[in-house]
Amino acid sequence: MQPTARPAYVALGGGLLLCALYASRAAEPEGAVLYLLGAASGTALCCVGASRMPPGARHIWWALAAGQALFLLGDVLYVLIENVLGGDPYPSVADAAYLASYPALAAGLLWLVRIRQRGRQRAALLDAAILTTAMATAGFVFIVEPSAAAGGGSVLENVVAGAYPAADVLLLALLVQMFIAGMRANVASWALVGGIVALLVADLGYVASALTDTSHPAWIDLGYLASYLLIGFAAVHPSAQALSEPTPIRSSRSLARLAWLGAALILTPVTEFVAGQDADTDHHGSVVMLAGGCLIALLVVLRMADLVQQLQYKAVELAALARRDGLTGLANRRTWDYELSRVCDAARKEGTTLHIAVLDMDHFKRFNDEHGHTMGDMVLRGTTQAWADLVQGRGFLARYGGEEFTVLLPDMGLTEAEALLDQMRRAVTHDQTCSIGLATWDHRETPADLVGRADGALYQAKGEGRDRIVVSASDRPELAGSAPAPHSPAEEAPEARPAQTAP
Ligand code: GH3
Ligand code: MG
Ligand code: MG
Repeated sequence: MQPTARPAYVALGGGLLLCALYASRAAEPEGAVLYLLGAASGTALCCVGASRMPPGARHIWWALAAGQALFLLGDVLYVLIENVLGGDPYPSVADAAYLASYPALAAGLLWLVRIRQRGRQRAALLDAAILTTAMATAGFVFIVEPSAAAGGGSVLENVVAGAYPAADVLLLALLVQMFIAGMRANVASWALVGGIVALLVADLGYVASALTDTSHPAWIDLGYLASYLLIGFAAVHPSAQALSEPTPIRSSRSLARLAWLGAALILTPVTEFVAGQDADTDHHGSVVMLAGGCLIALLVVLRMADLVQQLQYKAVELAALARRDGLTGLANRRTWDYELSRVCDAARKEGTTLHIAVLDMDHFKRFNDEHGHTMGDMVLRGTTQAWADLVQGRGFLARYGGEEFTVLLPDMGLTEAEALLDQMRRAVTHDQTCSIGLATWDHRETPADLVGRADGALYQAKGEGRDRIVVSASDRPELAGSAPAPHSPAEEAPEARPAQTAP
């Protein structure tokens, strides 16, 4: 258990103790007080959790806390009407508070789904709408209608009796949507799901006892208490913050979502079929209609899966294209920047050596002017193909821009790096030459500074007559502490060493 999660578990333990106390005293007069105490604790926890959330996620938890507070208000009014005023609390103003709590809870869940799918909100909303409509249709036929019919007679009683299961169906649809949106599986998410499920089960128990005209047993109130506590616990648990981070798009998730949407598609014909079983209708005809409806739904889903897969292939292709340079097929500048910082991190962690080199074609403008751009392109393509073969498995080569290239040489000695770069220098095609600047990472400077030093060495190589490799002055122990290396061949000091000069 993380130390920061300890207060959440202590609060949960206290709440469970209250639940146990309530269970043992449910029938006593103090039972109602213990219940309200537990409910208030869960609501207070949710408020504390909401106030600690980062600004972008706060509204989600305040909505859930508002839902709990309204439910608590309903409980207080219920207890007052029943125990203090001695009246019948159903239907009453308590129901208004209870029913008002569902939209607040639903808003919290909907925001949670939407924030997890940032950038895909229209898709998330459409998915939620499809699922909610399908489930609401089935829920209306099997739960809301029978509940409303058993409401007791008056229009108000029937509306109130039907409104609870309708609100439950809405929460259930959002719960399913939470899973489809790719719920992050952690302590807070499971506690939140547990809290909503406890509320739904308690509501179902309530509806069942109303339908069978029996007085509602104590476990139903324990279910409500569990719901208060679990949602409160979820809000104060440190893992709650991760719930509002966007989910990555995963292909398996897209296909799972399609399966859910397919199920939603057949829910309505199945509902119609099951509900019409008792009616005096043509049974064979309805079986054929159901089978046809399900088959069409399956085919539509398969077609959509096909489209999704094609889109995913295209996305992978496009992503690969965005990482490569069109002329040479090498990694482009963006990929180089990413790879450089990744390899620097790895070299820092493992304490290994890392060299980088900048390679630039010599007098390439002149070559283009003399032989044409197409020929210039051929030089770049042929040369980089040869370089890629030499570097393969030993380093990482990229087109930095124009006729300038960079190479990462990790985990090798300076002599080995120089030898490989000299092979590359000699591999330039069409009798062209290139100059190379080499720098070794000191494990402290930034990647940009490292490239800057290699570029400085390249500049020196150009100054010294081109077609050579120059190691950055600060990587040459013999120059340590002396003035920067001279740039012109005339000034060339004996220690300003072209690593391997041209033949
Ligand atoms: P230096 O030896 O000093 O590097 O001389 P340079 O002429 O090579 O000078 P610089 O590196 O500044 O010149 C870049 C030239 O490379 C200019 C441009 O015509 C050519 N170039 C850049 N990208 C391409 C390309 O994709 N294809 C072709 N054919 N030429 C390119
Ligand atoms: Mg050049
Ligand atoms: Mg250049």
